[in-house]
Amino acid sequence: MGKYDYDKLLDKAYKEMPVISKDEGRFEMPQIKAVQSGNKMVVSNLPQIAAAFRRPIEHLLKFMLRELATTGDLKGSEYHFVGKFRPEFIQEKIVKYAKEFVLCPQCGKPDTHMIKEQSASFLVCEACGAKNSVRMLK
Ligand SMILES: [Zn+2]
Repeated sequence: MGKYDYDKLLDKAYKEMPVISKDEGRFEMPQIKAVQSGNKMVVSNLPQIAAAFRRPIEHLLKFMLRELATTGDLKGSEYHFVGKFRPEFIQEKIVKYAKEFVLCPQCGKPDTHMIKEQSASFLVCEACGAKNSVRMLK
């Protein structure tokens, strides 16, 4: 095999390697499904959102109830928040939750988990290894 063929082969091998784009692993923010029903805001996909964030639904709910300053009930997989809200407002809170409790402040990746150490909570990034303290939801 001549040098030319070898180069060509290398070239071909490179071209066939999967392209790793800059957007690889970019996090797609889950979108809430919410409709206002009387004086209740009904959100039907909170369990899916919690699963996408890999966080317990209880933690997400606690955050939402506090942010919306209201109470609510779980009915099947639907969560009924008492009050009138715009769906965009609920979505903003989901984004806020992600920024605070899911996305790594260092690298922005969502591959994180939370740990508790003594009386503090930390967000640990599986992508870059960063460890940042996060507030505890009481
Ligand atoms: Zn990170």
